[in-house]
Amino acid sequence: STTPVTVTVTGAAGQIGYALLFRIASGQLLGPDTPVKLRLLEIPQAVKAAEGTAMELDDCAFPLLAGVDIFDDATAAFDGVNVGLLVGARPRGAGMERGDLLAANGGIFGPQGAAINAGAADDVRVLVVGNPANTNALIASKHAPDVPAERFTAMMRLDHNRALAQLAAKSGVGVGDVKNVTIWGNHSAKQYPDIAHATIGGRPAPSVIADDAWVTDTFIPTVAKRGAAIIDARGASSAASAANAAVDHVRDWVLGTPEGEWTSVGLVSDGSYGVPEGVISGFPCVSKDGAWEIVQGLEMSEAAQAGLAVSVAGLVEERDAVAELSLI
Ligand code: NDP
Repeated sequence: STTPVTVTVTGAAGQIGYALLFRIASGQLLGPDTPVKLRLLEIPQAVKAAEGTAMELDDCAFPLLAGVDIFDDATAAFDGVNVGLLVGARPRGAGMERGDLLAANGGIFGPQGAAINAGAADDVRVLVVGNPANTNALIASKHAPDVPAERFTAMMRLDHNRALAQLAAKSGVGVGDVKNVTIWGNHSAKQYPDIAHATIGGRPAPSVIADDAWVTDTFIPTVAKRGAAIIDARGASSAASAANAAVDHVRDWVLGTPEGEWTSVGLVSDGSYGVPEGVISGFPCVSKDGAWEIVQGLEMSEAAQAGLAVSVAGLVEERDAVAELSLI
């Protein structure tokens, strides 16, 4: 189609924003035939830096880029939005209590949800990247009562991609040969990466790996703590891989997942797999006709059930804490 799709990116002047915007503008988010209009939201102190990024976007002369506008006001930034990438968030400062962190993020994601409710296009799709992503997505969704809750998603895809890479390296295949991993629960150190239904080269992953101790003692903690390992090595948090995962998530949401394959999405629970309704949890999902569907009927081992329960307990605690603070 030739009508541009409006993509709003928050925290656009940050590290992830810098890795993300050029990929969107080059056509990697929505395909090579879809022009995009970018709307960048920043806090006032970072607007100048966002303007610098916009200058660089101009200088790329991307044929698909139909315009870049910069805002420090959420209502204006989300006017007409089709795809919202909510990246900017309040990081945990030294000595910050969890309640302070949740309150600071409530002050960001509540108004952004309200702005989406007020001005977004009917087909709006939202991906929250800024942490705590699942709970920030819940806060935004609760402030957008006219937008279906399943349009507010949280990013589990970086964990998912990290899991694919670890399994490929362990078994000596290309990542394209690894399919149907699931990251259950919260995008936090308590996530549950699950290979029980995954395949490697078309064979069941557990029998290809054939090393339960490696899965429990190496694979799961490596995936769950990969962010910290990158900070250690790079001296800065992962940004390009986070941006890449955001592109993967939205592209699959809009264009569909390949037949027979699922990915991991933070999606509002309908009670599937015992996750309390309304909580935004990582699930195995396929995208069909532009909507995510939770893959049903996967058998879960006792270990998987326990892992999911621990992760979901964290999500329920965060939900109760933001309810207590009247943020939802
Ligand atoms: P980044 O661009 O590196 O990260 C942005 C957010 O993404 C953080 O909350 C970060 O969480 C989160 N994140 C999620 N997954 C990952 C991952 N795998 N690796 C790294 N980060 C991840 O932060 P910067 O500080 O560079 O930039 C943030 C920008 O947001 C700033 O320009 C700031 O001005 C802006 N901002 C904008 C707001 C708005 O538009 N209203 C509100 C608040 C900030 P974590 O910290 O846990 O790593």
